[in-house]
Amino acid sequence: MTEAGFPLSRADAFQRLQSFLPTAGRAYARLRNKDQGKGRHVHVSRLSPAVRRRLITEAEIIETVLAHHDLASAEKFVSEVFWRSYWKGWLEQRPTLWPDYRAALEREKDRLDASADLRLRHEAAIDACTGIDCFDAWVEELNVTGYLHNWARMQFASIWIFTLGLPWELGAAFLFDRLIDADPASNTLSWRWVAGLHTVGKVYLADAGRIRSMTNGRFSPTGLAHTAIIPTDSLQTPQPAAVRPFARPNPSAPTLLLLTSEDLSPETSQEMCGLPVRAIACIDGCNTWDRMAMADGMERACKAWPEADCLGIVEPAHLLAKAHAAGCSQVTTAFLPVGPVADVLMPLQVEGPTRGVLFTEYMHDWDRRTWPHCRKGFFALREKIPALVRCGRD
Ligand SMILES: Cc1cc2nc3c(=O)[nH]c(=O)nc-3n(C[C@H](O)[C@H](O)[C@H](O)COP(=O)(O)OP(=O)(O)OC[C@H]3O[C@@H](n4cnc5c(N)ncnc54)[C@H](O)[C@@H]3O)c2cc1C
Repeated sequence: MTEAGFPLSRADAFQRLQSFLPTAGRAYARLRNKDQGKGRHVHVSRLSPAVRRRLITEAEIIETVLAHHDLASAEKFVSEVFWRSYWKGWLEQRPTLWPDYRAALEREKDRLDASADLRLRHEAAIDACTGIDCFDAWVEELNVTGYLHNWARMQFASIWIFTLGLPWELGAAFLFDRLIDADPASNTLSWRWVAGLHTVGKVYLADAGRIRSMTNGRFSPTGLAHTAIIPTDSLQTPQPAAVRPFARPNPSAPTLLLLTSEDLSPETSQEMCGLPVRAIACIDGCNTWDRMAMADGMERACKAWPEADCLGIVEPAHLLAKAHAAGCSQVTTAFLPVGPVADVLMPLQVEGPTRGVLFTEYMHDWDRRTWPHCRKGFFALREKIPALVRCGRD
């Protein structure tokens, strides 16, 4: 658990889920949008740092919740968990959006250097000096805890784009660098959604009265934009494409199991369980939170495969050589979704065969089942929720 109380081990995630269970039904539907302020987010689960790293999976969360509530009572909570899968599946089928966003971000950073006006407005935002009470307080909460309530994130992004007139790409990067649950799909695509780029023409405009009411009068912002100018010169939405091809692990090949912050419960995967794992390694995390979660994942994996050599952190450039030295003919990791970890590791897919070590990935049934319904709007996935939850966990 972090100092601010966010679960970063599998045991803490299950404990948090257990204590949240009574709230996951109708109370969640009624109260989830209330932002109570730093340290008081009792109406939401605060599970995102754990599920983002798959210390606990979406399937496990939903199965546990539905053992206590029927789907009608827990519909809101369950569908929020599906939003995570939706964003992930949607991006996976439009992978070019990630490098396009990264390139646009670099262009916006260059614009900061070139335009004093833009730079000053950006500095005021990131230094919590805009004079907009809720916005400045959310920057401070984010800096201290690494977390913002979902509803606050929506207001924050809307004020950033429409009131402060700042590029959404800079806002998405600002949040991504600070969030304890930073996730390429949920973050980038939520910013696009607020900006009006996901559902064409539909923007999210923050409203002062609603902010007052949802924060129990803690904030009374003035000067918020009343109209939204959609950033039309921004990234075009590509058509959906097939999920990228990947090599599945050979069930009898000596294996180096690789843990990354994308999935830290390999021992729960059916596909992994049968593999002859000879060595276990992880790549270094991006921040202290990743490292805490990684330590927990490594400890469990090394217990689950006691015969394997626990190598600890390995530089990506040395992975294939380490696997070879450990007598392994394949490196196996969980499917790497679009994002920084895949950016670093994907070159090994090409390099592996030339070095006599295949780079292979196992995929959760959850992703295999949900992603085909993530090609259009969320509604198409929401319709399938009853059938998907009946299929059970993977
Ligand atoms: C601008 C913006 C940026 C965001 N960036 C991220 C991010 O980088 N990483 C991230 O994990 N989430 C992100 N979200 C989604 C959401 O805000 C968080 O997942 C949620 O606040 C986590 O808190 P919780 O676990 O208490 O949620 P709860 O309300 O308890 O929801 C339960 C679970 O459902 C999922 N979930 C809930 N709401 C959403 C949502 N809107 N989108 C996707 N999944 C959701 C999460 O896995 C969450 O743990 C972002 C939302 C916005 C509007």
